[in-house]
Amino acid sequence: MRITAKDIVMEPSEVLRQKAAEVELPLSRKDRQILLDLITYVRNSRDEEYREKYNIKASVGIAAPQIGVSKKMLAVSIKDDEDSVEFALVNPKIVSNSTQKAYLENGESCLSVSPDVEGIVPRYAKVTVRAYNLLTDRVENIRLTGYPAIVMQHEIDHLYGLLYHDHINKKDPWAPIPGAIVI
Ligand SMILES: [Zn+2]
Repeated sequence: MRITAKDIVMEPSEVLRQKAAEVELPLSRKDRQILLDLITYVRNSRDEEYREKYNIKASVGIAAPQIGVSKKMLAVSIKDDEDSVEFALVNPKIVSNSTQKAYLENGESCLSVSPDVEGIVPRYAKVTVRAYNLLTDRVENIRLTGYPAIVMQHEIDHLYGLLYHDHINKKDPWAPIPGAIVI
């Protein structure tokens, strides 16, 4: 299935607030196709012509609940000057994290949230994620820092019914976080 704008579930849809179900491994044919559709969506969304044709926003990640599937699967694809990483993960779990925090200077955004909610979204500076990665067909321990670490935490949040703006300090959205790395 080609995921297009009409398939993206928007806040305040209930499915975005549910805890997603664990996925059975090895992947069923259906789950495997969903995950491939997710990674294909993120890859294609880098292309401006494609975005215009299907009326979609540029993205670096998407989680299954965002297309209405409450299962623990997500896709991340980042290709820029500094980072080049790609994952299609099943049952990802943060197994360790730094005490140091990090955040994106300009805040975060989400395919399922419109308009953007402004403010600092505190994240861990480093995380290790354990998951089955369809792109390598292995269970991996994935160590991430910097921008990819933030994207991964944003996507994993979707599997637990959380949205990025849940983390924003409502009284003072741009209040600095002592010791945090600004990305
Ligand atoms: Zn999101």
